Amino acid sequence: MNNPFDEAARLLADVGRRCDARGWVLGTSGNFSAVLGRAPLRIAITRSGTHKGDLTAADILEIADEGIVVRGTGVPSAEARLHLEIVCARNAGAVLHTHSVWSTFLSDRCADRGGVAIEGYEMLKGLSGVLTHEHREWIPVLDNDQNMARLGGVVRELLAGWPDCHAFLLRRHGLYTWGATLQDAIRHVEIVEFLLESVARAEYSGQPKSEEVAPWRS
Ligand SMILES: [Zn+2]
Repeated sequence: MNNPFDEAARLLADVGRRCDARGWVLGTSGNFSAVLGRAPLRIAITRSGTHKGDLTAADILEIADEGIVVRGTGVPSAEARLHLEIVCARNAGAVLHTHSVWSTFLSDRCADRGGVAIEGYEMLKGLSGVLTHEHREWIPVLDNDQNMARLGGVVRELLAGWPDCHAFLLRRHGLYTWGATLQDAIRHVEIVEFLLESVARAEYSGQPKSEEVAPWRS
C-alpha cells in the first residue's frame, strides 16, 4: 500500500504527463506541488530541472515550510516559495504552474490593465464556487521577478487583497492556479488554460481590446 508521499509522487507525475500532452510545460518549465500534511507543513514538489512529461518518483521532493528538503535528492523548483505562499494563503491542497503560450501571451497583453477579465463563458463553472456563466473572473497579472523572496511577498499581498481569484499570471512567464485537492487544481488548470486561450483568440483576432482597468488598480 502506498504512503501519502508515494501516492502524491505518482499523481504529480500523471499531472506532468497531462500538461506535457497539451504543450503547457515545454522544456523543463512548470512545477507542481501537493500538500502531504499541515502540522507540520509538508509538501511534495517537483525537483528543479526536470521535464514534467517524464517525471518519476525520484523527481519529486518533500519539503518543509521553509523550503527545506526532508525527503529525496536534489533542489526543489525555484518557485517553491510561491507554492508555499499559495498553500498558506488559500489553504490549498495542490498548486500547479504552467508555461503555456496563451497564458504567456495574455500575461503581457493585459499587464497594463493589471489582469485578465473573463466573463460569460460556460467553462467558468468549472472554477470552485462559480455557479453561473454570468460570473466575472479577474485573473491578476504580476510582474515577473527572479527574486523569489520579493515575488513571494507580492503574491502574499495579492492573495490577501483579492481573495476571490482562482489563479494569477506572471508577466511573460506563465500561470499559477491551485485547488482544495489535487483533482480541483487539475480541473482549474484545464479550465483556466481553456478560458485564457478562448479570450486571447476572441480579443486579439482583429477586434479592439478592452481598456478596462482591474478593480484593485482603480
Ligand atoms: Zn515558471
